[in-house]
Amino acid sequence: MNAVLFRNVTIWDGIDDAPYPGEVVVEGNRIRAVARGRNQIASERAAEIIDGQGMTLIPGLVEGHCHLSFVGVNQNKDLGEIPVEEHLLRTCRNATLIFNHGFTSCYSAASAKLRLDVVVKDEIENGYLAGPRYRTAGPEITVTAGLGDERRQNIPAESFGMIADGPDEIRRAVRLCIREGVDNVKINISGDEFVSHVRGEVTSMTEVEVAAAVEVAHEWGKRVSCHARAAAAVKRAVRNQVDCIYHCDFADEEALDMLEAAKDRLFVGPAFGLVHNAVFEHDRVGMPRAAVERMQLPRKLEATCRAYHEIRRRGIRVVIGGDYGFNITPMGENARDIGHFVKFFGYSPAEALRCATSVGGDLMGHAGELGVIREGALADLLLVDRNPLEDLSVLVGPDHFAMIMKNGKMHRDLITARPAGQQLAAE
Ligand SMILES: [Zn+2]
Repeated sequence: MNAVLFRNVTIWDGIDDAPYPGEVVVEGNRIRAVARGRNQIASERAAEIIDGQGMTLIPGLVEGHCHLSFVGVNQNKDLGEIPVEEHLLRTCRNATLIFNHGFTSCYSAASAKLRLDVVVKDEIENGYLAGPRYRTAGPEITVTAGLGDERRQNIPAESFGMIADGPDEIRRAVRLCIREGVDNVKINISGDEFVSHVRGEVTSMTEVEVAAAVEVAHEWGKRVSCHARAAAAVKRAVRNQVDCIYHCDFADEEALDMLEAAKDRLFVGPAFGLVHNAVFEHDRVGMPRAAVERMQLPRKLEATCRAYHEIRRRGIRVVIGGDYGFNITPMGENARDIGHFVKFFGYSPAEALRCATSVGGDLMGHAGELGVIREGALADLLLVDRNPLEDLSVLVGPDHFAMIMKNGKMHRDLITARPAGQQLAAE
């Protein structure tokens, strides 16, 4: 098998805080060797040697709350108005775009139409489309009047929701998603500030409905993730064994205690980007300040910050991903969330970057072998022309990525492909 040796790189391995000078051998789709120092690994071990020019080699990024089929819309309802053919093409473009931005893995937090995620993943895995590793989802299973129900009496409308009421309908919706091939089942247990008829502190899905969804999904070996902003919704999710609980903004002491007690089996994710941009960058899309105030978004943002300071302190596993794919949160800017973790939740840069690498790899179902640079791990690697720990914004690619590798295959390689004489800035 042809091996590639990376020399003269600074390795940040997704495990320790500090980077170190080192060398890495990739063989097939795995990392075969990692060495500290220079000239440690003999050239004979590799068919190809890449001089990293002192740049930083980090694990590929993992987006933990991804919506590839959210294609730059203004509001939820707009997603229902895109015909399926156009929607598929635009979802494919998002897959390549996010991959070009350094995300070698994405964990879907819902697909706007049932088969979009599944079909796009197949296209990637069959080698026809450049895109990340992908754990797919179906639409967000929600109750009548829940987040994702955009209908009005006599006025049909769709968004990203699949509406089901009562345990029987919920079971049927979950089975339908499973039949069509999803990896993750998404349920909406609470409402959301952005929806006037079901705000974030409303717990819209009942205990028996949540239990029914999880029972069926787990029977088929699928992961369940949920939308849960209200404290009661978070508790309902924990009690019923949901695997990944998104938002948790209004988690109270009891909810935080429950999350902490279950921290070995569950993940949480703030999905912070959307609220952040609505509060601080609403001008970007012409959203009036009055609308931000009406939805009480600054109050929600404060609650999120409070909750995640506590979640960090308690050592609960947190993934990045901030509902990128709306007009106000353009796909490709997903890595901004890493900097937000430092600025708003008190993470150190290395802790925040672990949320975007090794913790995400764990969520993807590859604990210890994805999102890390160690012997035996899957070879998803980025070569960055700055030290990202000194400035996390360089990860909001693609300008600072000299190389993107997924599963041992080069996707972007400026080092060996660049015209002669042209130098990339190195540390
Ligand atoms: Zn979402």
